[in-house]
Amino acid sequence: MVLDMTVADDLALIESAKEFVERYRSFQEDDQNQLPMLSSSCPGWVCYAEKTHGNFVLPYVSVTKSPQQIMGSLVKYHYAQTRNLSPERVYHITLMPCYDKKLEASRPDFYNELKETRDVDCVITSIEIEQMLNQEGISLQNVTRNEIQKPFGNYNQLECNIWSHQGSGSGGYADYIFRYAAKNLFQEPNAKLELKSLRNPDFQEAVLEKNGKMVLRFAVANGFRNIQNLMQKLKRGKCSYHYVEVMACPSGCLNGGAQIRPQDKSHLRELVMKMEEVYSKLPQSNPEENLVLIDLYKTWLGGDHSEKANALFHTKYHQIEKMNTAHSIKW
Ligand code: SF4
Repeated sequence: MVLDMTVADDLALIESAKEFVERYRSFQEDDQNQLPMLSSSCPGWVCYAEKTHGNFVLPYVSVTKSPQQIMGSLVKYHYAQTRNLSPERVYHITLMPCYDKKLEASRPDFYNELKETRDVDCVITSIEIEQMLNQEGISLQNVTRNEIQKPFGNYNQLECNIWSHQGSGSGGYADYIFRYAAKNLFQEPNAKLELKSLRNPDFQEAVLEKNGKMVLRFAVANGFRNIQNLMQKLKRGKCSYHYVEVMACPSGCLNGGAQIRPQDKSHLRELVMKMEEVYSKLPQSNPEENLVLIDLYKTWLGGDHSEKANALFHTKYHQIEKMNTAHSIKW
């Protein structure tokens, strides 16, 4: 079966937005460890945070799983159930523009010891698909299209196989959470995230003001140079953001490390811009109106804030101790 992941993208956005609103409220009551909330869908950034900044930064990292891992929960524990299959009887492969998604899928947190199965069994990258096709002498243009199956139902009335989200090409986290928080915390249903570049186009920020007071301050930080600057600010106590969408690749996931590259490398920037343009023209999904989500929360999950939803869609992070042995030195 070939599935599309919009249902998991939408669940990741809704769960992250709910997490943010809860953290914001706790922060107002003086729990300083709650904000800024840092996005967690990028395993490149999460691995760096665990290894380099450990317990200092981990409380700020969103506990909502990435869309890939939410899809894993859906496929192994919902789809399998509807087919009367035990989770280990389903082999789940994802296609990602990212090598680090392989590391994410192999985390012990996403392994079911009882059933001896992972939520995602195998991750294949765009580059690897291209290599496999090349090896077989097959051109993508000549491949017969397979139907995308919808085992969870239709998202809405629109007949469409590929969806995008408003905001960045990395899932639109900052955009969606900003609008959700403006509506649910400040009764501003028409707020828009208007990002402005700061030092470079890969570090942008936006604010929401209410009665002349700044109530939300969001940022999007792409690439390690900007992530390092963000960490320094946080360590110096000078990071006044409420939320930061953090992505390890410059320009985010559309420019993922395992994304297909143009033959002439000097055209990379143009290709990314073209992809951003194509992506922005796709029909946009609105998680709150997604009929599949409404049904899943009502029937399978037992409510919007149920323990089951927490168990299936949230995760943990772990500080990785630096080893001081000679073997661990990398030259
Ligand atoms: S930003 Fe890069 S490393 Fe991070 S999830 Fe996207 S493609 Fe992967």
